[in-house]
Amino acid sequence: MKLYNTATRQREEFVPNDPNLVKMYTCGPTVYHYAHIGNLRSYIMEDILEKALRYSGYNVKRVMNITDVGHLASDADTGEDKMLKGAKRENKSVMEIAKFYTDAFFEDCRKLNIKRPDVVEPATNCIADYIHIIETLIEKGYAYAAGGNIYFDVSKLKQYYIFNDHDEEDLAVGVREGVEEDANKRNKNDFVLWFTKSKFEDQALKWDSPWGVGYPGWHIECSGISMKHLGEDLDIHCGGIDNAFPHHTNEIAQSESYLGHKWCNYWVHIHHLNTNSGKMSKSKGEFLTVSLLEEKGYDPLVYRLFCLQSHYRKNLVFSWENLDNAVITYNKLIAKIAALKPDDADEIDTAAFDELKVKFLDALGNDLNTALAITAVYDVLKYKTNDKTKLTVIGDFDRVLGLDLIAKADVKRREVAAAAPAAQSGDYAIIRESGDADAAVIAEIEEAIKQRAAAKKAKDYATADKIRADLAEKGVILEDIPKGTKYRIEI
Ligand code: AMP
Ligand code: ZN
Repeated sequence: MKLYNTATRQREEFVPNDPNLVKMYTCGPTVYHYAHIGNLRSYIMEDILEKALRYSGYNVKRVMNITDVGHLASDADTGEDKMLKGAKRENKSVMEIAKFYTDAFFEDCRKLNIKRPDVVEPATNCIADYIHIIETLIEKGYAYAAGGNIYFDVSKLKQYYIFNDHDEEDLAVGVREGVEEDANKRNKNDFVLWFTKSKFEDQALKWDSPWGVGYPGWHIECSGISMKHLGEDLDIHCGGIDNAFPHHTNEIAQSESYLGHKWCNYWVHIHHLNTNSGKMSKSKGEFLTVSLLEEKGYDPLVYRLFCLQSHYRKNLVFSWENLDNAVITYNKLIAKIAALKPDDADEIDTAAFDELKVKFLDALGNDLNTALAITAVYDVLKYKTNDKTKLTVIGDFDRVLGLDLIAKADVKRREVAAAAPAAQSGDYAIIRESGDADAAVIAEIEEAIKQRAAAKKAKDYATADKIRADLAEKGVILEDIPKGTKYRIEI
């Protein structure tokens, strides 16, 4: 498997430290609000990475933190405390907020078929681990106390910047809005490991430490939790691209200074989900959630498909129109799979299975090219083999894709069977006037006609018109009649 490593800026062959176990760490959510679908893009793609590794034959241990303390509004130790902000907004305690939004996050993950990592660790569970790391960093001369806080001294490192070059980062820090200078810092990029001098008089969570009562900085939690559960050597660390600096840069600084050796070999960063007005972000206050998609009638798995259709290292622009296109793609794919008619008497064609699987693995191994992996499903549908084999292969691929392809196709098959008599006698007639095609294509056309009828009923004329135009492009001409739709196939 080839993966792009942000640390080396190259695609590299993935080789784990231990061939029997891949150790993978994911930065988890800050639980002061619902996750937005941008956050969830990152988690969907990280889920695909984990599943692709497992599908390729690796054992994986994946760890995720839950940030329930220490994350300030700016990633660079400034601004409001995010958890406190959430608690004030909702008139609840910080721990109530953390519990509520942690549960909401995993509920969203369930709907999106994102597997729960093997270990999920709230940051507040590991205070003693952070204290131990910070004590060692002070002993080794990498950290200092100033103004009541403990800071990491970036000038003690041979190389601080890992993911971007120095000038670029300096510029980025220089232009960041709302950054108050912290007079205690020796260097501009020094960061807080432990706060005792809280700027928040109502700071809710505090623990005793050798430096006084206080709380940990955000960055130390990921180093502490990763080392606690995965040891000194990490294979893959992932997160959204906004985490690369300063969060991951600081994680590397403190972890490697503490350990005295290299920590993590592969850094995988997911690029952003943007709207027309820029990056989707929780702090902007306006963002889209999985529940909102559901309220508007979208199946959350359509959003998963939408994410899989583009590469994780490209920004992805969200619009309702783009999501509607994913709905059409998803429904067509399900209809095609539903049209397969497995015969119990058929044998699984193992040669076909192996050949198709190689294509799928190639796509995943190509820096997780999920769009090509979806194309591999269409290749299965077109392949000359029996339907039983096709369904088995698609079910196998779906272990990674997580689109519920087989279950949804089963439902569709039953719906089509139940609707067939009604279509002839009942409320909505779909009549083929002329032309012919194979059964799968007919099922697909009639499914599209039903969707158009549903869209018209919902007064969604844009979708209805698009379906009509798409069919016309394929030579299928529709004509509305009082009780339904007639169509001609002119191909
Ligand atoms: P947070 O809950 O803010 O700590 O973020 C959770 C994860 O979502 C992190 O890995 C972020 O890098 C990632 N993330 C934040 N905004 C976006 C976005 N617009 N698109 C994709 N990932 C994002
Ligand atoms: Zn992290």
